[in-house]
Amino acid sequence: MEFNLAVIKGDGIGPEVTAEAVKVLNKIGEKYSHTFKFAYVRAGGDAIDNCGECLPKETVQLCKNSDSVILGAVGGPKWDNLPGDQRPEKALLGIRESLGLYANLRPAIIHKALSDACPIKKEIIGDSLDIMVVRELTGGIYFGERGYREGKYGNEAYDTESYSEMEIRRIGKIAFETAMARNKKLASIDKANVLESSRLWRKIITEMSKDYPEVEVTHMYVDNAAMQLVRNPKQFDVIVTSNMFGDILSDEASQITGSIGMLPSASLGENSFGMYEPIHGSAPDIAGKNMANPIATILSMAMMLRYTFNLEEEASAIENAVTKVLDMGYRTPDIVSEGTKEVGTRQMGDLIVEAI
Ligand code: NAD
Repeated sequence: MEFNLAVIKGDGIGPEVTAEAVKVLNKIGEKYSHTFKFAYVRAGGDAIDNCGECLPKETVQLCKNSDSVILGAVGGPKWDNLPGDQRPEKALLGIRESLGLYANLRPAIIHKALSDACPIKKEIIGDSLDIMVVRELTGGIYFGERGYREGKYGNEAYDTESYSEMEIRRIGKIAFETAMARNKKLASIDKANVLESSRLWRKIITEMSKDYPEVEVTHMYVDNAAMQLVRNPKQFDVIVTSNMFGDILSDEASQITGSIGMLPSASLGENSFGMYEPIHGSAPDIAGKNMANPIATILSMAMMLRYTFNLEEEASAIENAVTKVLDMGYRTPDIVSEGTKEVGTRQMGDLIVEAI
């Protein structure tokens, strides 16, 4: 099969990590007889410098015309003093919105070989963890009505959390289907003891659970979930939650794994269209030094093959290759420890290609 992919290399380590992801996809293409065609487009600081704006129309158009989008990372100190709406990071919200990417899937995985990086006690975590956070990405308080007004105590600012049944249903569907493909356990996180929008959230998820009788659904308040994630993270398999709660809980879950350079993500829209990116930023402190860990971006490619192209065997081939290389003791500087072998960004990419 042939796939047309838009690639946004972005800033900082973005170009370095996306280069390794492209290498890995080419290897998958060779092994499984697929052709991946890459079209490079600009966003973030790279686009500000070369096109005068952080998200040029041509970038959005080319992404829309592609089968899937790969993103490195955007931002850096060079552009930090620009006004908020002109900063590189603005491109992220813009592209998610323009592409209708309403579901964010963020796995928090601890690889056995890296279990020492986890900040939680071994007797709680064991030597592995595998949680998938499904976060609603284009609704809720981040997109609700906001502003300033005259309030009881003078000038006040407000933001509005609102969710439609449609928005809850479409993210719920992705969450239930993700749970069906995994261990059939779903925790829906809300604040239904206080928020009306959360009560609707809980009602719709409960209704939907009748269509997925095999999935064991639990409902949890977000304050309790934040606590349970560090008390006993292994009780979770798939978590589904709103935009703001998901923003916070997915960062908490990712930190439990202890290694930001390892974690991939997928942002999905209609018909499985998606944008795939590492969860980390542009890491300006190590950019251009062949020190960045490319594994988060490479594992994002596995998510792309699985969720957008339905190529399970190919996706597993990438994940197994990453595990193999880690088991062989190879580490980029961010995850190196005593007794392991330090390698650079490009060498890590080459080793994973070889393992495939
Ligand atoms: P960051 O994730 O870029 O870096 C945090 C720390 O983790 C740094 O010490 C960095 O060296 C390290 N790190 C990150 N990724 C790594 C990798 N693959 N391998 C090895 N080490 C890695 O976060 P930050 O420093 O808060 O932000 C830097 C810039 O990135 C900012 O401009 C920020 O706005 C932007 N950012 C972009 C995205 C995105 O594009 N999706 C996400 C977060 C931050």
